[in-house]
Amino acid sequence: MKILVVGSIAYDSVETPYGKRENEPGGSALYFSAAASFFNSVNVVGVVGSDFDTSKISFLKKRHVNFDGLYVESGETFRWGGRYHTNMNKRDTLFTYLNVFEDFNPTIPDHYKDSQYVFLANIDPDVQLDVLQQISNPKLTVLDTMNFWINGKKDVLLNVVKKSDILILNDEELQELSGHDNLVNAGREIIQLGPKYVIIKKGEHGAMLYYNDRFFISPAFPLDKVIDPTGAGDTFAGGFLGYLASANEMSDQHLRRSIVYGGVMASFVVQDFSFKQLQNLDKQSINQRYKEFKELTIF
Ligand code: AMP
Repeated sequence: MKILVVGSIAYDSVETPYGKRENEPGGSALYFSAAASFFNSVNVVGVVGSDFDTSKISFLKKRHVNFDGLYVESGETFRWGGRYHTNMNKRDTLFTYLNVFEDFNPTIPDHYKDSQYVFLANIDPDVQLDVLQQISNPKLTVLDTMNFWINGKKDVLLNVVKKSDILILNDEELQELSGHDNLVNAGREIIQLGPKYVIIKKGEHGAMLYYNDRFFISPAFPLDKVIDPTGAGDTFAGGFLGYLASANEMSDQHLRRSIVYGGVMASFVVQDFSFKQLQNLDKQSINQRYKEFKELTIF
């Protein structure tokens, strides 16, 4: 089943307690695709500047990630900088330069328009809305965002929320968007706004799926060393939707397994800078960690 993703494609500069990297490829669409492509083919919609080195994403092309919807505009690629605290659940954004993003208004290629699964990754909600309006009849729309857009463009974001089936946010973003500190109340509030499902990412504490007034809770995989948490959320979403689209069925069992695959993929990406770890990964290691995940919670 086809997945379409629209999101950022970036050059990231990141500092963690394990080191510093400048202008490494990143962005929500790339992290998502690097994870989802282990399960399903992915159609990317995004924009880069003329300074973007496309050889950095050639490994994705080999994994059936389609870049026909990638626009190359004159100007600079989107840039983001972040610094993590010793407690890597916390980070400061050092800069966000939208650059070619500023006027991004994509036309969706005709052969993308029948995509059944749509991931509106973290990007300007005006672009998310515009993309959604160009897709014929998606089976499932999953929405992600971040504080930058919750604070900057809440009205249009709420319009996208209304049109989405699944909202996927971290706990802080959910609290901010819903206005509730308590996650149960926050989940209920979001359901009132439109989506049927809410996924709450809780970093090293795992993830929660809320729907039909009940929860499924998955731990995160215990790691002795987290090198760089950047993109963990988008990678989680890639594992989640990649698996769900390949199962092509919204049963309880598949939804739960999708959440676990999300956690599996996120546990890999944080073990190195940028998406290096996903670049060298294979399906056997993914399935092995999935089994280990299962053992974590059998009692
Ligand atoms: P995460 O760690 O899951 O929050 O994702 C980090 C990724 O989001 C980085 O690769 C950034 O390039 C990208 N990013 C940061 N800020 C924004 C923004 N305002 N809009 C779109 N993408 C962003």
